[in-house]
Amino acid sequence: MKKPYSVLIVGGGTAGWMAANLMAHRWRDSEVAITLLESDTIGTIGVGEGSTPYLKGFFKSLGIAESEWMPACNATYKCGIRFPRWSTVPGYESYYHPFFSPLDREIGQVFFRNTGQRRGGLDVPANPTDFFHAPYLSSNARAPHPEKPLPFELDYGYHFDAGLLGRFLRDTAKAAGVQHVIDTVSAVERNAERIDAVVTEKHGRVAADLFVDCSGFRALLLSGAPGYRFRDFSSTLFNNAAVTVQMERDQSQPLLSETISEGLSSGWMWRIPLQNRTGCGYVYSDHFVAANDAEAELRKTLRLPESARVNHLKMKVGRVEQHWHGNCLGVGLSQGFIEPLEATALMLVQFTIEHFLDAFRFSEPEAAGEQKRTGFNERINQLFDGVLDYVAGHYRLNTREDTAYWRTAREDAIISDRLQALLDCWDNNGDVDGLLEQAGAELVYSRASWYSLLAGMGRFPVSLRPADAAVQQEWEDVRRFCTGNQARFRQHQAQLDMLTRTDHEPA
Ligand SMILES: Cc1cc2nc3c(=O)[nH]c(=O)nc-3n(C[C@H](O)[C@H](O)[C@H](O)COP(=O)(O)OP(=O)(O)OC[C@H]3O[C@@H](n4cnc5c(N)ncnc54)[C@H](O)[C@@H]3O)c2cc1C
Repeated sequence: MKKPYSVLIVGGGTAGWMAANLMAHRWRDSEVAITLLESDTIGTIGVGEGSTPYLKGFFKSLGIAESEWMPACNATYKCGIRFPRWSTVPGYESYYHPFFSPLDREIGQVFFRNTGQRRGGLDVPANPTDFFHAPYLSSNARAPHPEKPLPFELDYGYHFDAGLLGRFLRDTAKAAGVQHVIDTVSAVERNAERIDAVVTEKHGRVAADLFVDCSGFRALLLSGAPGYRFRDFSSTLFNNAAVTVQMERDQSQPLLSETISEGLSSGWMWRIPLQNRTGCGYVYSDHFVAANDAEAELRKTLRLPESARVNHLKMKVGRVEQHWHGNCLGVGLSQGFIEPLEATALMLVQFTIEHFLDAFRFSEPEAAGEQKRTGFNERINQLFDGVLDYVAGHYRLNTREDTAYWRTAREDAIISDRLQALLDCWDNNGDVDGLLEQAGAELVYSRASWYSLLAGMGRFPVSLRPADAAVQQEWEDVRRFCTGNQARFRQHQAQLDMLTRTDHEPA
């Protein structure tokens, strides 16, 4: 290996700083000089405040305890996502996508069995909201942390202030030796498949061995690569804009540990509870509602005062074909974006960097490197496409008739053959488990997630035969079990307060 090997990360949004931290940590014993260059005239996207449970692994691998980063980022816990107003099926007007708890193992079996029976025409309860602990905990303002230790951990994600997380990660990266340069890239010097240098406004030419494009939707480095191809997802996912607002937290209300993603007239709105505020955003398609009407709808839904400042954003939905091209790796919005319904973007960021670090070797013959790049790009594409299927499923399964948006999203969106096969299998009471098993990691989401989506939207025969009383009794037993277990978990606020106490054991 040439010493020192130089890495230039362009962009200081969440993706750039996540890359800087993971790279500095993994290569801490190698002669690698990492620099992160960001513009002070081009801002970060300023959203991205919900995560999947995968983010736990990010902090764990860096050895950063929750007590260090969560208070610094006004972060809260997330047990899952609630989806009101996506379905109109009686009993399924709202459903929950839970993160898994080992406590759900047995009652989850009742849910899986009931969904099968209901698909077969029996009137048994099958809304996931009733069969997992997460919805009970989060709607009752509990943290996914028991008062007394259990022999297992519950899965959970986080909500956080994106700006504060960026600052926190900047400080940890700098402490790990990453150089931070403020400047704006004005040109990219290429030599066939490779990038030699970027040209900046103040520091002139900056050369490096490896470039990481974290420049956001601009994709400054990746988009100029020879043969650059972007796979547009807009015929599957129609939303291309968002209007966001931050509301002060109402201290009289309990602090929920869930994201709420509520269907509006031409899209959906997130509510993300942080310690000091609630972040909200209406994600919509501007083919169906103009930006000012979307803003008016957001304001009306949230009863915002006139003085509330909102922010309008455009979204480019799709992915590149080659996330790693020559000596350039794309991470974050530069590599692609699937609309934020399942808050998956930072999971894709983390996964991309981790897999890159596993695949990358400082000195490798070009041919071997090429093979690795191909395998890597296929794996990342597979992940993007799996997430795409899951998110697309929400729109295909919606049953709303009230606006053209919902009807068109259900009837005209183009979905993959794989997703269509899964829906057909479900509708025909086929072997859904066999199909999911066969698809394996390609479908990304677990059996519990797919069942929660399909059942949660009320995708069942309309005409049902009555079930016997024992089924009803069993359902009530499950509800009693979950309700009873709630008390074993700490209040969300109390758990967050514990993180700031000095006598608290780091997580
Ligand atoms: C509406 C919306 C909601 C979202 N919600 C979620 C969510 O809940 N969960 C989730 O995981 N993700 C979410 N995301 C995605 C998430 O916001 C991003 O994945 C994340 O913030 C990473 O962005 P980024 O760092 O790639 O880009 P950005 O934040 O856009 O950062 C780009 C960086 O590049 C720099 N830059 C650009 N041009 C130049 C130049 N010429 N020279 C030097 N520097 C330059 C900028 O200064 C900036 O530092 C959401 C996205 C949108 C649009």
